[in-house]
Amino acid sequence: MERPFLLSDSLMCMDPLRVGEQLAVLDKYMDCHHADVMDGHFCPNLMLGTDFIKAVCCAARKPVDVHLMTERPQDWIEVFADAGAAMISVHAETIQRGAFRLFREIRERGCKVGLVLNPFTPFDAAQCVIDEIDRLTVMTVDPGYAGQPLIPQTVKKIRQAADFKRRTGARFEIQIDGCCNKNTYALYRGAGAEMLVMGSGLFGLSKDLETAVSMALEQQQEAIIDEK
Ligand code: MG
Repeated sequence: MERPFLLSDSLMCMDPLRVGEQLAVLDKYMDCHHADVMDGHFCPNLMLGTDFIKAVCCAARKPVDVHLMTERPQDWIEVFADAGAAMISVHAETIQRGAFRLFREIRERGCKVGLVLNPFTPFDAAQCVIDEIDRLTVMTVDPGYAGQPLIPQTVKKIRQAADFKRRTGARFEIQIDGCCNKNTYALYRGAGAEMLVMGSGLFGLSKDLETAVSMALEQQQEAIIDEK
């Protein structure tokens, strides 16, 4: 069955006591794994350390995207490239003083390049680097925690990115990070989202992850049937 979105699981939402078991399930259904790195400065939480991500990269059969929510992303490119990240995504808010140098370093270390926009940051911030990136992630919540409510003003930005992509033929993927669940699938899809980071909207559905995945996939199908 055709799926309406590419999917990525938010590793920070896994049950920390059942990581290996859950990773094996996610490997079967997800297109990639999403590793949130938070330094307690750029956003108010501490998440996913280097050894953990390295272990996931070694065990996972799907690519791992490291989402750097750190004040100094330049300090972490080598570490996570060596850990086995397939893609490193950095925040527009943190790279103004060396964006192109940073993108070049990420590529030279063998990773794809992702750019992330906070809710406060306009799409314009991505435009001048759009040819340098493989994926644009639109945050629809402020970074820091899973399970936050949608910031509705961000939906317009998804639409702007999709319009820009259609108009210019640019190749970047449009991913949504934040509040991806049954209440937002149709909204995101209608705005032009192509890929979702699944956090509480997946892991919160059932304690049994196989069940949770099939529920989420079903909800996504229903959302696009309603759309037709
Ligand atoms: Mg993230």
